Amino acid sequence: MTTTYDLIVIGAGAVGENVADYATRSGLKVALVEAELVGGECSYWACMPSKALLMSSTALDAAKAVGGAREAVTGELDVQAVLNRRDSFTSNWDDSSQADWVSSAGIDLIRGHAVITGVKEVTIDGTVYTATHAVAAVTGSAALLPDIPGLLDAKPWTSREATSVKVVPSSILIVGGGVVAAEMATAYQQLGAKVTLVARSGLLGGQEPFAGELVGESLGELGVDLRLGQSPTSVLRTEHGLVETTLDDGSVVVTDEILVATGRVPRTGDLGVENVGLTPGEWLEVDDTLLVHGTDWLYAVGDVNHRALLTHQGKYQARAAGEVIAARALGKPVQAEPWGAHVATADHAAVPQVTFTSPEVASIGLTADAAAKQGIDLKVVDYDLAALAGSSLKSDTYKGQARIVVDESRKVLVGATFVGPEVSDLLHAATVAVVAEVPIDRLWHAVPSYPTVSEIWLRLLDAYGRPE
Ligand SMILES: Cc1cc2nc3c(=O)[nH]c(=O)nc-3n(C[C@H](O)[C@H](O)[C@H](O)COP(=O)(O)OP(=O)(O)OC[C@H]3O[C@@H](n4cnc5c(N)ncnc54)[C@H](O)[C@@H]3O)c2cc1C
Repeated sequence: MTTTYDLIVIGAGAVGENVADYATRSGLKVALVEAELVGGECSYWACMPSKALLMSSTALDAAKAVGGAREAVTGELDVQAVLNRRDSFTSNWDDSSQADWVSSAGIDLIRGHAVITGVKEVTIDGTVYTATHAVAAVTGSAALLPDIPGLLDAKPWTSREATSVKVVPSSILIVGGGVVAAEMATAYQQLGAKVTLVARSGLLGGQEPFAGELVGESLGELGVDLRLGQSPTSVLRTEHGLVETTLDDGSVVVTDEILVATGRVPRTGDLGVENVGLTPGEWLEVDDTLLVHGTDWLYAVGDVNHRALLTHQGKYQARAAGEVIAARALGKPVQAEPWGAHVATADHAAVPQVTFTSPEVASIGLTADAAAKQGIDLKVVDYDLAALAGSSLKSDTYKGQARIVVDESRKVLVGATFVGPEVSDLLHAATVAVVAEVPIDRLWHAVPSYPTVSEIWLRLLDAYGRPE
């Protein structure tokens, strides 16, 4: 049995798979270790099942928003069919096809729990493995469970239970105001549950304020009981199996289940990082080549490094990490200058993100507030997305908003946010503009087709002002 590899990758989520693949394609012998399911959180308990729970009602809403189609919608959402479709996306939580892919890519899959037991040494269920060049920790993150009296005894749901639900509860209290909370509130309310959402501050903090406002308005219209500016003070699972949650205004909310979506913690608690001088339970801090500070052999990629907790950004880091580990191992040149092949520069200023609520929120780069805090000489341009021929054709009741943030000293976009139905498809144009630092003057020559929602670009530029 082989126990020596050029690279040992711990964690076969979407990101770990990519680190292993890029390193293998670059000529290294790689082992990929997984304690649960190959494919990780995104495939089985996060991106895919959560979006599958949302998409059927999104499609129904889109049809109901267009006269002619609306009249043809005579039935209700088929909840069991939605759950069955979700099951097909998770392959019924069977990872054999992903495991087959790992073997076909020439990577050795080792099933088991990995512990770092020394420099370049990993022990998996009692067997010691050695990495000649590097170890990559790609162990992801788990739901944070806040310290609320009674919460743990009440057996709260996390995103795992929420995305793998078999029977939709008749009522659910969701704690949190971020992406997972807002998406699950949308999904569960549309699947027929009575949702109460409790969030300490507004919704979607960190995004442009109008994003959380529009999503909150729509959740209210859907029937979600929004309790913003409040927190749970205690939780009790009663003898009848119900959950009684007391809020800090003294009110008590009684529901079938409670879902906690208040953030993430790194999966480094049982990874053995203390054996190499790091602190268990902390995020692994890295440089732009994804190398953990203070080491020359340990890399941390994806959620576990806390740079951007998103699958696409983790996969982007994975390409840089897989290839830089190979370059260093094989004595090849390393391209570590900003925007070079071996660094994840975009993590700092160009992270695209979509929140699949109704309306969707799609954003890239800096908000106006974040840009101001960085001392950027900025100009903010807002435009009503409903005031376009393309959006009025798409929906008879279109509501939406767009904003760009321009760095006036360089005349380039540093941020953009779109809120509205299907705006996720507008995002990549903005990402290209931010990453490529396309001058505003040149953007005028990127002509959007008529009549599409992309015409928002023309309107935003008009509102910004013609070049002198
Ligand atoms: C509800 C929800 C919805 C989301 N939706 C989206 C979305 O739409 N788009 C998006 O981009 N992002 C989304 N995300 C974020 C996305 O899921 C994560 O960013 C992504 O899964 C991170 O991938 P990863 O490979 O770093 O970690 P993970 O997918 O968590 O994989 C880590 C793997 O490491 C394994 N592991 C951990 N420790 C060990 C060990 N010691 N030994 C062996 N194996 C180990 C784990 O079992 C796991 O399989 C969502 C997150 C949540 C919670």
